[in-house]
Amino acid sequence: MTLDPKTGRAIARLMCTTTRDILWSSYRDRLRQTRPHSHLECRTGSGRATYHRYDHRNQHHLITYGVGMVMAKQAPETAVSWLSTREIRSRGYFGGEVSVLNLLAHTCTHEFAHLLQQHAGKRYHGSVHNRDFYRLLDQLNEDGLAARTRERLADLAQHHGLTLDDGPMVMPCQQTQAAQWQPGDPVRFGEGRSAREGRILRVNRKTCTVEGTGASRGLRFRVPFVMLETTE
Ligand SMILES: [Zn+2]
Repeated sequence: MTLDPKTGRAIARLMCTTTRDILWSSYRDRLRQTRPHSHLECRTGSGRATYHRYDHRNQHHLITYGVGMVMAKQAPETAVSWLSTREIRSRGYFGGEVSVLNLLAHTCTHEFAHLLQQHAGKRYHGSVHNRDFYRLLDQLNEDGLAARTRERLADLAQHHGLTLDDGPMVMPCQQTQAAQWQPGDPVRFGEGRSAREGRILRVNRKTCTVEGTGASRGLRFRVPFVMLETTE
């Protein structure tokens, strides 16, 4: 399914509302016990970039949901390369089933796990998707908050007359198209302890040239499309 950017933005706004209503409201009081001024702003972004940022000075959390990300997650050919797709499949979130609704609900949970990770002091430069992050993400799924997030997002979409398909996506087994990669995209590649994070510098015919970030800063890699994942 393709989506116009206006609808994409409307969906991203619902993701903001859902994150505040379900996730933030469940944790706010606990977080404020140690950081009394903690607050969260959720906003939409025009590109694909989807991320959590934290400003230590005023204890301000910011989560951005990119309209381009919402659009990319509507179809299997473009959704396949996102980290959230792999997380749902490999970690069995939402029964391991990838759908538009599950991907977008999971994205809310994923960004909120970064917020909790930051609060716990477990976010390290160059090791963002680390063991501590997945412990928090697993917990949000196990304690039912991820399911409530999914339910609220589905309800809001229905209320606003927006369609979030909950039918399972059939994923292509390999991603070999150059068109879906863009310079500047944050990416991840490699497995386990040798996983690296970076940013796309250039899109080639079958590979991307990636500039390492964090622990891989200063290094460049040529990575085949099939090994790359867009991070969020
Ligand atoms: Zn992430």
